[in-house]
Amino acid sequence: MAHCILKIALDTPLNAVFDYRWTCEDIDRPQVGQFALVSFARREMMGLIVEIADHSDVPADKLKDALAVRTQLSPVSKQWLALAGFAADYYQRPLGEVALPGVPKNVRVPKSVPLDNALKKLAKLPDSHDPTPHNMPVLNAQQQAAADFIGQANGYQPVLLYGVTGSGKTEVYLQACAEVLAREADGQILIMVPEINLTPQLEGNIRARFPGVMLATLHSSLSEGERMLHWLAAHTGRARIVLGTRLAILASLPHLKLIVIDEEHDPSYKQQEGLRYSARDLAVWRAWQLKIPIVLGSATPSLETWHHAQAGRYTLLPLRERAVKSAVLPQVKLIDMERDKPRDGLTSSLVAALKLRMERGEQSLLFLNRRGYSPVICCESCGWVSDCKRCTSFMVLHKGEYKLRCHHCSLEMRIPRHCPTCGNIDLQPVGRGTQRVEEGLQAMFPEARILRIDADSTRRKGSAQEAFDTVHRGDVDILIGTQMVAKGHDFKKLTLVGIMNPDTALFSQDYRASERLFAQLMQVAGRAGRAGQAEGGSAAEVLIQTRYMQHPLYSAVVSHDYDRFASSLLQERQQAALPPYLFQALLRAEAPELANALAFLAQARDCVEHPGVTINDPIPMSMTRVHNVDRAQLLVESPSRPALQAFLREWMHVLRDMKTRVKWSLEVDPLDI
Ligand code: ADP
Ligand code: ZN
Ligand code: ZN
Repeated sequence: MAHCILKIALDTPLNAVFDYRWTCEDIDRPQVGQFALVSFARREMMGLIVEIADHSDVPADKLKDALAVRTQLSPVSKQWLALAGFAADYYQRPLGEVALPGVPKNVRVPKSVPLDNALKKLAKLPDSHDPTPHNMPVLNAQQQAAADFIGQANGYQPVLLYGVTGSGKTEVYLQACAEVLAREADGQILIMVPEINLTPQLEGNIRARFPGVMLATLHSSLSEGERMLHWLAAHTGRARIVLGTRLAILASLPHLKLIVIDEEHDPSYKQQEGLRYSARDLAVWRAWQLKIPIVLGSATPSLETWHHAQAGRYTLLPLRERAVKSAVLPQVKLIDMERDKPRDGLTSSLVAALKLRMERGEQSLLFLNRRGYSPVICCESCGWVSDCKRCTSFMVLHKGEYKLRCHHCSLEMRIPRHCPTCGNIDLQPVGRGTQRVEEGLQAMFPEARILRIDADSTRRKGSAQEAFDTVHRGDVDILIGTQMVAKGHDFKKLTLVGIMNPDTALFSQDYRASERLFAQLMQVAGRAGRAGQAEGGSAAEVLIQTRYMQHPLYSAVVSHDYDRFASSLLQERQQAALPPYLFQALLRAEAPELANALAFLAQARDCVEHPGVTINDPIPMSMTRVHNVDRAQLLVESPSRPALQAFLREWMHVLRDMKTRVKWSLEVDPLDI
């Protein structure tokens, strides 16, 4: 018997591909891109074959045999391996850590039974027999032009579909999909949404439009069995449309012909731990690599994307009007909280507007991006506040559960009966979260059907969908919600949006705060008046409570003027030398003592030459302590992406060899700094 050497990427923190021997006749050699079971550190592990060679530099007596190759599964494509390789290089992580975690657990277990069973199950599913679209509505001229442009695009073609809220971007995606499915015999389409809660709405639309096409969904709340089946449907090319959240960007899609990124500006496309990738950026790379079109859709594009469109690198396709003829953009008005003093967080103007909606049988949404009852409780006699013992933050009051809870480390305690310092029994909630607003409103409108939607009210699996269904059915008068309700939802009966307290974000240290606040306000405002108004009715309204009536951000929201606001932000960024005019990476360090984290970063700062790259001083993170560890960071910047990348490669090399007990990690293109 002959043998060959399999070079196998494993999901280990070591930056390496490992050699294993495989005995077989030459014609039976495994293929690059197949999965192989090996023993590593006394464990059986599944790896990915990235190369097959005749010789190994590992001495023969040290070389182990691979245990099995999953020959029943076709290999992942060369292009997919290149994508994983690019992500590994760009984000400075080991290849195996990029390539393997997205592969379902049941493919990676030592036994092959689960895989064989799933393949059998998949074989029984009806194929994509008919890509004909059903119930296609007539598009308006701008929608049609956009859909045709995308559907007929050839080669790499990044498109920014810049459409105001309610402009019917979904229809454009669906009709572009129809063109691609009709033209490309086996073609696959990847559609991404930022939030898992948006998948059911779009999944419903896709299934109704393409009943004869196999659709696979990929997101974090699938069971292992479902995940396996859907991943295989994508990998085998059986699924023609794949809908997913950010993790879907690493799906194996052998016949990918079109990528759609809905709400491309959304920060959720950025993974915030482990491999800290931007799914949107990887999607653009993937489209470039495969020479296919990619659509980035948004009413408030990220400044990065807007900048590309302004420079002509992305084709800008605007949808300037709402798709439903009688639906105009809502009127946005500011309420001066200095004059109209709020009671229970609500100004009298907002209360009057809510009352009017109730009388008319229309729905209202109150937006407040803070869950819990109140963000802190305090003792008015000695000044004690409920801060978290383990974090630089407060314990949030969850009144219904009689608990204080830290939203950063999940520490919980019963609400103290009296002040831990002075014994005073009169502890007061300070500030207002969604639960407190709910309580106040219910007292004000005892008859009203009020529903709160936030991370606390939707913990149980399926409960978020139930809540959204209740709203869609019209069984809710006032909806109270956090950013969970702000995005993408097509609430047809909603005619009033009240925004309770957006001011705090105006003065954030984070230079992206105003971009984000603007996007968030435009998004949540965009939930109002989507279905158009009845004969004689008045236009939908958005009321923003503020103490800063003159702030330019609010004037831009009032005039729905993204273009001008984005230009002025870009100008500021250019003058201040900030992204997208500058490229950044962030080295973070964690240790029980802040001094150790800072010392490690200082050492890191001085350990390599760095022409063309600026390294700032180490500083504590603004929320320094979380769960009893102190965190510090070091920001690295360069006007040249290649210069930054070259530096990072060398730097990581040195840092990986450095002996330290400090836990550290690198983030390329950080969003929060
Ligand atoms: P966006 O994602 O741009 O905010 P949607 O895709 O949710 O907007 O569309 C908003 C509403 O307009 C939806 O209810 C949709 O059914 C409707 N719509 C879209 N296109 C058309 C059209 N051409 N004619 C009539 N209604 C449309
Ligand atoms: Zn006290
Ligand atoms: Zn905590």
